[in-house]
Amino acid sequence: MNYKIALIRGDGIGPEIVNEAVGVLDKVGEKFGHTFTYVDVLLGGCATDAVGKSYPDGTAEVCKSCDAVLLGAVGGPKWGSDKPAEQRPETALLAIRKDLGLYANLRPAALRPALAEACPLKKETAEKGIDLMMVRELTGGVYFGKRDRYDTLDRGVECTDLMAYSEMEIERIGRRTFEMARLRRKKVSSVDKANVLETSRLWRSVMHRLAEEYPDVAYEDVLVDNCAMQLVRDPGQFDVVVTENMFGDILSDEASMITGSIGLLPSASMGDTAPALYEPIHGSAPDIAGQDKANPIATILSVAMMLRYSFQLAAEADAVEQAVDKALADGWRTADIAKPSETVVGTRQMGQIIRDNI
Ligand code: NAD
Repeated sequence: MNYKIALIRGDGIGPEIVNEAVGVLDKVGEKFGHTFTYVDVLLGGCATDAVGKSYPDGTAEVCKSCDAVLLGAVGGPKWGSDKPAEQRPETALLAIRKDLGLYANLRPAALRPALAEACPLKKETAEKGIDLMMVRELTGGVYFGKRDRYDTLDRGVECTDLMAYSEMEIERIGRRTFEMARLRRKKVSSVDKANVLETSRLWRSVMHRLAEEYPDVAYEDVLVDNCAMQLVRDPGQFDVVVTENMFGDILSDEASMITGSIGLLPSASMGDTAPALYEPIHGSAPDIAGQDKANPIATILSVAMMLRYSFQLAAEADAVEQAVDKALADGWRTADIAKPSETVVGTRQMGQIIRDNI
């Protein structure tokens, strides 16, 4: 099969880590008999430098003509908040997610066996293993609601942020979650604040209706405050966790921290029709850009997610994940995950070791 992939290399360490991930895809292609072709897409600070806008015209159309999108990272101090919105990399990120209709953000948080000691939780908790998938609604809720700021006569300035969710928005993320659970350990934990919020009560009723349609998947409701606590007390109890935008923003960062380094964690953002977008959860790390120091594993594992979820190539995805685990089990470390006694390899060498393991 031939798969066409849009590559957004971006800024900072973006080009370095995308290079290694592309090398891994090519190795998978060679080994399993697929062809991957690439289309370079300019987005972020590098696009501002080249054409004056972080999100050049036609970007979404080029991405939509591909089977999947791989993004390194965008941003950096050169294109900070003093610049007009159209020159800021963050504007481009929000725009591409919106234009591709990417309403579901998937972030696996798995403790890689060789790095169990990097887990900040109690040893006996880490030993039980952590392998959960956080599904965050990405285009609704309070981050996209109507905002207001006005003067009151007696209380100074007052502001409001509206949190709105429709049944349609909840149902589509819910369905995706139950389908995802069927590919994993078949358990869904739906996180809300239904004891307080009306949007959560609607969320819960839609999830309950869906749970009846998926009787093979175990289902539970978890209040958001309890979920925050359970993630540090016993994260091994979770398989797929689904929640609305703001709760997901906070809980997915908490879940990623319990697994160690941000240099290891991939993510996917999906919609219904356009290609999905895969990216590491970290940023462009301008402090180490161009120094062959970046950990390419999060981007390489993003490619494994692409193989699994966009191309339905499970054996190929397994091969990439196993190659990463072998590299770590053999003791190879980039600087961000190395202990003082361990030998450090650079971005390129880590990429090569993982390719050799496939
Ligand atoms: P960051 O994730 O870029 O870096 C935080 C720290 O982690 C830094 O010390 C960095 O060196 C380190 N780090 C990050 N990724 C690493 C990797 N792969 N290997 C080794 N070390 C790594 O976060 P930040 O410093 O807050 O942001 C830097 C820039 O990235 C900002 O402009 C921000 O807006 C942007 N950003 C972009 C995205 C994205 O493209 N999706 C996400 C977050 C931040």
